Amino acid sequence: MTQEDLFKNLIAHTKEYGYIFPSSEIYDGLGAVYDYGQLGSELKNNIKKYWWESMVRLNENIVGIDSAIFMHPRIWEASGHVGAFNDPLIDNKDSKKRYRADVLLEDYIAKLEEKINKDVEKGRKKFGEAFDEAQFRATNPNVLRNARKIEECKERMVAALNANDLDALKQLILDCEIVCPISGTKNWTDVRQFNLMFSTQLGSVSGESGTIYLRPETAQGIFVNYLNVQKTGRMKLPFGIAQIGKAFRNEIVARQFIFRMREFEQMEMQFFVQPGQELEWFAKWKETRLKWHLALGMGEENYRYHDHDKLAHYANAATDIEFNFPFGFKELEGIHSRTDFDLGRHQEYSGKKLQYFDPEKGESYVPYVIETSIGVDRTVLAVLSGAYREEKLENGEERVVLKLHPALAPVKLAVLPLVKKDGLPELAREIMAELKLDFNCQYDEKDSIGKRYRRQDAIGTPLCITVDHQSLEDKCVTLRDRDTMQQERIPIAELYKRVDEKVNMRTLLKQLM
Ligand code: ATP
Repeated sequence: MTQEDLFKNLIAHTKEYGYIFPSSEIYDGLGAVYDYGQLGSELKNNIKKYWWESMVRLNENIVGIDSAIFMHPRIWEASGHVGAFNDPLIDNKDSKKRYRADVLLEDYIAKLEEKINKDVEKGRKKFGEAFDEAQFRATNPNVLRNARKIEECKERMVAALNANDLDALKQLILDCEIVCPISGTKNWTDVRQFNLMFSTQLGSVSGESGTIYLRPETAQGIFVNYLNVQKTGRMKLPFGIAQIGKAFRNEIVARQFIFRMREFEQMEMQFFVQPGQELEWFAKWKETRLKWHLALGMGEENYRYHDHDKLAHYANAATDIEFNFPFGFKELEGIHSRTDFDLGRHQEYSGKKLQYFDPEKGESYVPYVIETSIGVDRTVLAVLSGAYREEKLENGEERVVLKLHPALAPVKLAVLPLVKKDGLPELAREIMAELKLDFNCQYDEKDSIGKRYRRQDAIGTPLCITVDHQSLEDKCVTLRDRDTMQQERIPIAELYKRVDEKVNMRTLLKQLM
């Protein structure tokens, strides 16, 4: 099955089982807006909990806040979002489809990289044992030609984006002979800038003065509270402020399911450090954040760093952690060294000092900032696509299973009486009444036990217990593991411990210490 088909199946699966629904579906939906269903919201909450606790609980010098979505409009002038939070967009005149110019170019580069990799694979097959990949890459004319094209395209793209030269961007698209994936033509409009912020009116004031924005990132809520938190929390550098919350962007191209949404959620942490120490902290956070992802067990090979070619003018280092989504490696999290840009700008625009008095140095300065910024929804997508499997079993049957990390799974335990009579439902209910105080459990007595296991596999429940007639006598139940499908008989009295060992968030957090 192709990755594309697998992705389609995953989307259908998440809808069928109550993870994710298109927003306003009975009104035919709303572009790039999604709702989380009964299981999706549990998964999302677990992801947020994992992130929050890894930041706020494991680090004594990181605290969390929850700032408002609406903020003073001057904040977005200070941050640069009013002037420069733009995407370069281009339309194809034949298909009437709109694209981000930089994304068209990045896709073009990715295609050339794919071609190179195919040539290398061909070479490997042809030369067998004697194949020297480095030499092949350095000498094969096809590979060299495509590598040169990539270099040239990257260089021109970075120069055009940095100089905000929209004509140069269009020229590059024409020179690379990029065609619209829908119409197949090169009939492009000029490139235009498009501001991604949503605006609305505050109270009864209309016009310029009443215009406020839905925040396009949560970070600014942290910067403007820097001093409040530092003072009231008696925080000493280095320290961090974390926040989880909604953000809104009027994305031009909203595709790929919940990868790019117009309303989404971010988990951001701003780490304030002494100027001069920022690159050291940047390296540390790069490593720490990758560890957080790897603990989820979705395979080291599915993550990579992508250091930025084009640095924002205020950043002195930036990298993305990319995940191997069903549509290729794409940004999941950004880590940026933002210097004193944000606090400096808010100091300038607000006229309030946003400094830190360093008792050791005996002087005041504006701290530097390392930011880690990750999308909750993109993490949901990463986790679901990393977990989704269509498996053929030994007995010839098939099952769809979500191999979610047990600490993230929405339902931890299914309690299943073998039959609906003879006192089995009562015992099952009794067990559940105790366990549901600690774990999200689901009770199910409908259909055959096999069917019930399949339903739990499909939603990713790590453990099932079956209560049978013997349970009434020996006070034992059958515990079934989702991944191995192994079953074992254990005393009811041991259930709490066994479930806890498997699903407690501790298993994830411990790997970060
Ligand atoms: P992209 O280049 O994909 O548009 P970005 O570089 O603009 O992303 P940031 O501004 O660094 O993204 O935002 C930090 C994180 O927020 C991203 O790594 C991503 O996980 C998440 N994010 C950003 N935009 C969206 C969106 N439209 N939908 C869902 N998540 C998003």
